[in-house]
Amino acid sequence: MAYKITSQCISCNICLSACPVGAVKMIGDRPWIDPNLCTNCINTLYTVAQCKAGCPTCNGCVKQPTDYWEGWFATYNKLVANLTNKQDYWERWFNCYS
Ligand code: SF4
Ligand code: SF4
Repeated sequence: MAYKITSQCISCNICLSACPVGAVKMIGDRPWIDPNLCTNCINTLYTVAQCKAGCPTCNGCVKQPTDYWEGWFATYNKLVANLTNKQDYWERWFNCYS
C-alpha cells in the first residue's frame, strides 16, 4: 500500500525531490503521491520512506493502512520468492494449512 499525503502537509515540497521514483507530483499547489508509482521505497537505496523521513511535520506523509490479508499475502509472496525449492515445500505447506 502506497504512502499518502495528509491534511497536515504544509506544502514545503521536500518530498517532491526526496522521492527516488518520482511518485510525488504536484496537483495545483499541493503535493500528491501517485499510488501506482510509490514503491514504499522498497528496492531503492533507502531503508525508510524518503517522503516521510524528510517531512518536517509529524504526519504529512503516512503509509496507508493495509488490509490484513493483502499484507499477509505480500509477506508470504516475498518470503516464498526468496526460497529455493518453493514448489516442493512452501506451496505444499500453504496448501495444507490454508
Ligand atoms: S514512500 Fe518512497 S516511493 Fe513512495 S512516495 Fe514516499 S519517497 Fe516516494
Ligand atoms: S515533506 Fe511533508 S510537509 Fe513537505 S510537502 Fe511533503 S508531505 Fe507536505
